[in-house]
Amino acid sequence: ASIGSLNKGAEIKVGNSDVFLLFSALQGLFGVPELSCPEGFQEAQDKALQDSEQLVQKACSTPPGPETVKIFDQLSDSLCRVADLADFVKVAHPDFAFREAAEEACRNIGTVVEKLNTDVELCQSLRRLLGDETVMSSLDPETRRVAELFMFDFEISGIHLDEEKRKKAVDLNVRILDLCNEFLIGTHIPNKIDKHVLPEHIRYNFTAEGNYLQVAGLHADCPDDLVREAAYKIFLHSNSQQLARLEELLASRNSLAQLVGYDTFAHRALQGTMAKTPGMRHVWKDMLRNQMSGILFQMLMPWDHPYYSGVLRAERYNIDPGLYCPFFSLGACMEGLNSLFSQLLGISLYAEQTKRGEIWSEDVRKLAVVHETEGLLGYIYCDFFQRPDKPHQDCHFTVRGGRLKENGEYQLPVVVLMLSLPNSARGAPTLLSPGMMENLFHEMGHAMHSMLGRTRYQHVTGTRCATDFAEVPSILMEYFANDYRVVNQFARHYKTGQPLPKNMVSRLCESKKVCAAADMQLQVFYAVLDQIYHGKHPLKKSTTEILKETQEKVYGLPYVHNTAWQLRFSHLVGYGAKYYSYLMSRAVASMVWKQCFAQNPFDRAMGERYRREMLAHGGAKEPMLMVQGMLQKSPSVEDFVDALVSDLDHDFETFIMDS
Ligand SMILES: [Zn+2]
Repeated sequence: ASIGSLNKGAEIKVGNSDVFLLFSALQGLFGVPELSCPEGFQEAQDKALQDSEQLVQKACSTPPGPETVKIFDQLSDSLCRVADLADFVKVAHPDFAFREAAEEACRNIGTVVEKLNTDVELCQSLRRLLGDETVMSSLDPETRRVAELFMFDFEISGIHLDEEKRKKAVDLNVRILDLCNEFLIGTHIPNKIDKHVLPEHIRYNFTAEGNYLQVAGLHADCPDDLVREAAYKIFLHSNSQQLARLEELLASRNSLAQLVGYDTFAHRALQGTMAKTPGMRHVWKDMLRNQMSGILFQMLMPWDHPYYSGVLRAERYNIDPGLYCPFFSLGACMEGLNSLFSQLLGISLYAEQTKRGEIWSEDVRKLAVVHETEGLLGYIYCDFFQRPDKPHQDCHFTVRGGRLKENGEYQLPVVVLMLSLPNSARGAPTLLSPGMMENLFHEMGHAMHSMLGRTRYQHVTGTRCATDFAEVPSILMEYFANDYRVVNQFARHYKTGQPLPKNMVSRLCESKKVCAAADMQLQVFYAVLDQIYHGKHPLKKSTTEILKETQEKVYGLPYVHNTAWQLRFSHLVGYGAKYYSYLMSRAVASMVWKQCFAQNPFDRAMGERYRREMLAHGGAKEPMLMVQGMLQKSPSVEDFVDALVSDLDHDFETFIMDS
């Protein structure tokens, strides 16, 4: 079947397959036999734990050599295969019993992984390998890197410390985990205020609770200035409990990092990333000094920026999504991706019939990714449509990593792409807004990274790479999604077949540049704040004072008395010291686009180079070496900054004055 049949309204019924399915045996989720019922998770988990015990013994009794890394990777694979799958099922399965069973499996495997990371004997077997210079120098770079990455996991747990310090590291880890959870919850809790404090005519904007009003967000899109100002001041009002949590979290992370041998938590977090390369650490400070500071707008308050950029975008360019949607049916977009991948990489996507019980919702589609000469590369499950209890987020999940198996076969990668597309009316195709189309391209970028990462070890499969490299393939796809030559290949009006007019595409691209400088400045501000918080301790000032100082220096908009935005900065938990990653990935993607694809987005030779130099390695190669391989030069700090700044519209300042 063509992937155009992904178009929900245009489904093809295949004969009497429904009758056939009734008689066929029930398969498990993703074709895993045990997972035909929630109880299967227990079975799959027990099997994984049994396998892992045997592999631990094998690792400990095998003399140091390439075999050691192979066994470690097998061990990691046997646990990840259940844990990764469960990680997806626990958030996305429509059946509560499945979600609960998956959650339980995640917890149990997580506990075992923690135990293994502090297993002295297991660590010894790896240490013997890393300590044996003759054997190490005989290993290929991929195997060496994976061995070092495994060791890094042990070291973070403080395994090399004496008994007393190790216990301290374990305690700190437990405490940090609790603080992270408490802080995360705190970032979402609404703030309450006596309703009489607010003017009567704006109260209806907030949820009433007796004499109180609940402010649960910034109301950034509200046209009323007063509502935005009130929401900003109340929602971001400082909270001493949350403040104490954050400061303890930062201090504990610092103590842990120092205990296991790093100067600061940031030093530990940047291990193995692009930013740790000498010189790159300073990229942020350099960015601030750069041209960007010329593009400030002082007349606004912090609560104005997102609203006005939206208004300006809409006013200057007529980019009502309703005008674009008819050209972006899901089927057309998927055909567009298929055509792009086949021209660039020789890869086609085929819709594959699923077995009974293999998918968790009827509207999930399974795509086989097939290379013109190498054959089947892997599977992408497309879980694209909204449904009750499904999180509203666009996301890529690795369900099974690729690796070279003991019998010489390649274990095919399996991923899920999750989107939240609206359900269309029966008979009509699903229509995407330009933003949804761009997100689809973005997520497919992650999926192709997973499919084409032909690593020997699953520990470094596809997207399991340095955080600041992980968004490169997906952001690169956004450049393709915004190029007229690419869009023109697939954007057709679903009723008339008419192509999307060129000026509509350019209007859309131009509109994205509106306020892009201010958006980027905000991102730089967040990234710098995250670096300072995770830098040298004890911090010289309170986190609020640091915020005030950094905001005024980096962002340019005034700090508002008694607010503490950092208490809502949930990414401090997941990204700790790596919030800069998004900007770094964007800079690399921008360089790759301009140098390799802007001239001809269908250049097969470049597509092959992109696959060979970047996608193929997953996390098995130093990210900076991949960038060098692709660009055939080593980019300087200035190149990174230029790549970001050159995407901005320099006429913006005059434009805002004119409006
Ligand atoms: Zn992404």
